[in-house]
Amino acid sequence: MYYYVDYHCHTLMSGDNSQTMEELLGSAADRGVRELCITEHFNFMPGTYCFGRFSFCEHDKKRKELARLWPGTKILLGLEMDYMPEFMPIIRQLGRDLPLDYYIGSCHMSNGRHVFGDDFFEGRSMEEAYREYFLTVSACVRQRAFDTVAHFDWVKRKGCELYGPFDMAPFRDIIAEILRDMIDLDMTMEVSEAGLRHPPAETYPSFDILRLYRDLGGENVTYASDSHNPKQTSAHNGEVYGALEQMGFRWITVFEKREKKHIPISGA
Ligand SMILES: [Zn+2]
Ligand SMILES: [Zn+2]
Repeated sequence: MYYYVDYHCHTLMSGDNSQTMEELLGSAADRGVRELCITEHFNFMPGTYCFGRFSFCEHDKKRKELARLWPGTKILLGLEMDYMPEFMPIIRQLGRDLPLDYYIGSCHMSNGRHVFGDDFFEGRSMEEAYREYFLTVSACVRQRAFDTVAHFDWVKRKGCELYGPFDMAPFRDIIAEILRDMIDLDMTMEVSEAGLRHPPAETYPSFDILRLYRDLGGENVTYASDSHNPKQTSAHNGEVYGALEQMGFRWITVFEKREKKHIPISGA
């Protein structure tokens, strides 16, 4: 029996979704999730969709209530923070000051443009758009502020509709460089099933990238569904864990107070 965890999921407090914490917990328990790290979006910029939605006190109270109802699932607190280079001092400080178990950096924006928006791709070749995105991911990793980078090759979510299925070959150099940095910095790779329900129909990152990470010596992976409704919570954990095991990953990385621990993928 695999040691299932889900280290990236959202509730109403993220401001962009439709599930209560009860619904999330219920679906995670149904999917055999032993550790659930709730990672709301957090943005301190007025005008952003999630501004003012996250209340630490309210969240904390709710998590404690629900922990009593679902004793089989350990509930942890994370945050999904947008990587904004100009605000790194405050972003880094929040990671230190908030009582977080896990801190995710997400490259939703690249040089002021939303990576999921048409204007990010408009008038640019696949080479230009994808390379810029990976340079942003590289800069985010080098900040050493986060425990992981969410949805590593997220640019393919929209990009695959414009340029066809994602192929890492033209970007192997920059991707390998980022992976080496992550290994050197002992950062964790988020393996997200969200891409399976999105147009790319493959995990973030792709299995090719995960194999390269493994070949370079990377061992440090955690699992995520980026669930925004109960149907999405760890819906593919069995198949993806199986694939990870076949690729040679032996551990699942879990966190508490931002300290990592490795648990055998096949269960303790
Ligand atoms: Zn995200
Ligand atoms: Zn997310």
